Amino acid sequence: MSDPVRTTRLPSGVQVPVLGLGTWHMGEDRRRTADEVAALKLGLDLGMTLVDTAEMYGNGGAELVVGEAIAGRRDAVFLVSKVLPSNASRAGTVRACEQSLRRLGTDRIDLYLLHWRGGVPLAETVAALDALTAAGKILHWGVSNFDTDDMEELADAGGSGVETNQVLYNLSARGIEYDLLPQAEARGLPVMAYSPVGQGDLAADPRVAEIAARHGATPAQVALAWVMRRPGVIAIPKAVRPEHIRQNRAALDIALTAADLKQLDAAFPPPRRKQRLEMI
Ligand code: NAP
Repeated sequence: MSDPVRTTRLPSGVQVPVLGLGTWHMGEDRRRTADEVAALKLGLDLGMTLVDTAEMYGNGGAELVVGEAIAGRRDAVFLVSKVLPSNASRAGTVRACEQSLRRLGTDRIDLYLLHWRGGVPLAETVAALDALTAAGKILHWGVSNFDTDDMEELADAGGSGVETNQVLYNLSARGIEYDLLPQAEARGLPVMAYSPVGQGDLAADPRVAEIAARHGATPAQVALAWVMRRPGVIAIPKAVRPEHIRQNRAALDIALTAADLKQLDAAFPPPRRKQRLEMI
């Protein structure tokens, strides 16, 4: 049995795994449901107990897949879902959350995120998230795709309860290292890195493959180990193929050397100035 998955701490004190399971593009085709459920169950078996989903994915279909995968083991899972900005009004957020709970087959979401900023004033969404927390329907809340100035505005809008910001972060998208990551670290706020394998692109990158070969690993594993090298960063790769799930779990055991990191910096230069937060 391998070591348990390393954890990091949310501002509220809850420990969450630094490696979880993404679900974008799951629940879009019923013919793939069995494989998707099996992939998530395997990931949970291997200790990747943080599951990231959203009402948007598959128009609710991904939440149905997650619901099937976590049935009977809900207490062992840290469940993350997201409300669309178009639903993020005071009443709309509550309604969206209740619909997500039904699809997920549970009575609570551990961490509920505003998927990205939309037209609803932040204070209104925050009020809805606080009400959902008070009602026990969500245990924590956070945001996604928020740049540094959005985080400042959130603080001004009464958003002191924010527990994470989920953003694009991988070797090919390093902009957040300039300001957003330092800002989050200064506030003790973990960042959830989405698309950590570059939506699959980094798994085929020869520059990463060169380093992977030295570790007897795959490029995707090196890309993941690199994202998780910073203590407050949580990676949520999505994988359906069982060998990918197993490889992702094993990426936690890869210790990149100073020489590896230098070579990766040369191939994927860190930002030298502010870059607008990228999102996909
Ligand atoms: P990703 O995790 O970087 O890449 C997923 C792709 O990589 C899939 O095609 C998968 O293949 C492949 N893959 C995974 N592990 C691999 C491995 N070990 N070796 C080779 N290939 C591997 O991209 P993502 O799905 O965009 O991002 C991850 C999660 O972040 C999403 O699923 C979602 O939960 C979240 N997300 C959030 C936002 C947001 O706005 N908040 C935006 C994007 C994503 P198979 O599936 O065939 O195994």
